[in-house]
Amino acid sequence: SSKWARARAILKEFEEKCGTPDAKLKQVADAMTVEMHAGLASEGGSKLKMLISYVDNLPTGDEEGVFYALDLGGTNFRVLRVQLGGKDGGIVHQEFTEASIPPNLMVGTSEALFDYIAAELAKFVAEEEEKFHQPPGKQRELGFTFSFPIMQTSINSGTLIRWTKGFSIDDTVGQDVVAELTKAMQRKGVDMRVSALVNDTVGTLAGGRFSNKDVSIAVILGTGTNAAYVERAQAIPKWHGPLPKSGEMVINMEWGNFRSSHLPLTEYDHAMDTDSLNPGEQIFEKICSGMYLGEILRRVLLRMSEEAAIFGDEVPPKLKNQFILRTPEMSAMHHDTSSDLRVVGDKLKDILEISNTSLKTRRLVVELCNIVATRGARLAAAGVLGIVKKMGRDTPRESGQEKIVVAMDGGLYEHYTEYRKCLENTLVELLGEEMATSIVFEHANDGSGIGAALLAASNSLYV
Ligand code: ADP
Ligand code: MG
Repeated sequence: SSKWARARAILKEFEEKCGTPDAKLKQVADAMTVEMHAGLASEGGSKLKMLISYVDNLPTGDEEGVFYALDLGGTNFRVLRVQLGGKDGGIVHQEFTEASIPPNLMVGTSEALFDYIAAELAKFVAEEEEKFHQPPGKQRELGFTFSFPIMQTSINSGTLIRWTKGFSIDDTVGQDVVAELTKAMQRKGVDMRVSALVNDTVGTLAGGRFSNKDVSIAVILGTGTNAAYVERAQAIPKWHGPLPKSGEMVINMEWGNFRSSHLPLTEYDHAMDTDSLNPGEQIFEKICSGMYLGEILRRVLLRMSEEAAIFGDEVPPKLKNQFILRTPEMSAMHHDTSSDLRVVGDKLKDILEISNTSLKTRRLVVELCNIVATRGARLAAAGVLGIVKKMGRDTPRESGQEKIVVAMDGGLYEHYTEYRKCLENTLVELLGEEMATSIVFEHANDGSGIGAALLAASNSLYV
């Protein structure tokens, strides 16, 4: 029927606009490399902030003692206690609690957000077993993983550049988030010192390095997306401080804000960006990361419902609600292997109140999931290639040169199997089978929290 012809036409056009042939991905990777150079050359030199992390030594494995971490990522936050066993001792004990951030606190006041976090910390500490108590006169030490762009002023201070991922609290911007947290901890009676302020990518790099010495890149694919890597200090013209002994500096790229004329953007992306809390910003993040994939899918489905009546003559009212279709739901539909696509049917019914969908309609939905996820995953792979190129490791290894291990984390990478497989296959495709053997992806589970505790240890006042 003409209805189906119209639906197919919308799909076809969307698929073409989302296209990521290898040649395009190589252009994206090259553009990423160029922007990395520009961001390292001068402050404000690029959309890529290439932030200096003040981490010039990654964990050695000799760290010892009980340390804490607070991981504020976007959707949830976690409080961790990690006991490190010293040389060859590894992680003796680890324990965490997790809480979600109430949506009203994401757009409220700085004080309310930090008070909420400090109250959770207070609870965690109050319930702790005596064997973890610090000796008299010694403060607990905390690594604070704060996954938003921070202009770092030392290893344990830094001001918020801007919020991302649906947070919007004006009075935090420009403030030192360690000072904000410290004040809230005092208000809540928590006796703790922030020893390290780290981005989640930097934490993941540190956590990954602790278990594998070849880790030199970390990528997060969760609510948002970002990457960090180990740069030669000499290659950072904008760094005017003393050259670190190690000769290295971890750079938090803030690659979510990457944009390039080579990125395949559609009308749906432009509309979603315009309607977002941060229009014009985080464009790479908005096509690759978990907060947005489901929303892009919803927008295409809405258009098909309006113009091709794929869900009947009436547009289902729920389909008009922004962000109602979340990426975990999209991933469940994409992974549906049942012959009648039962999961797709159930999700459409439960989330969008659309019942009695035909198999044909369900297949269409799965196709759209695949288009959206494939574009995101392939672009993320191009981003990794950009870093590998910047490190000069995209050509055959000199003998004796180690592998590059990329520590990966985030709910999207962890749970969206099709996305993860596509990302990994794409890098092989771009580098060629032989070169690709020297780049390895490793899931650094909870690396950002453990990494922050490790960095708290290496920056402890008491060693
Ligand atoms: P954050 O990025 O907020 O620190 P996570 O790394 O846990 O948190 O990532 C959470 C995000 O991962 C969710 O917002 C969602 O977009 C994505 N996600 C979680 N579960 C799944 C899933 N099953 N399939 C696809 N994406 C998922
Ligand atoms: Mg996180």
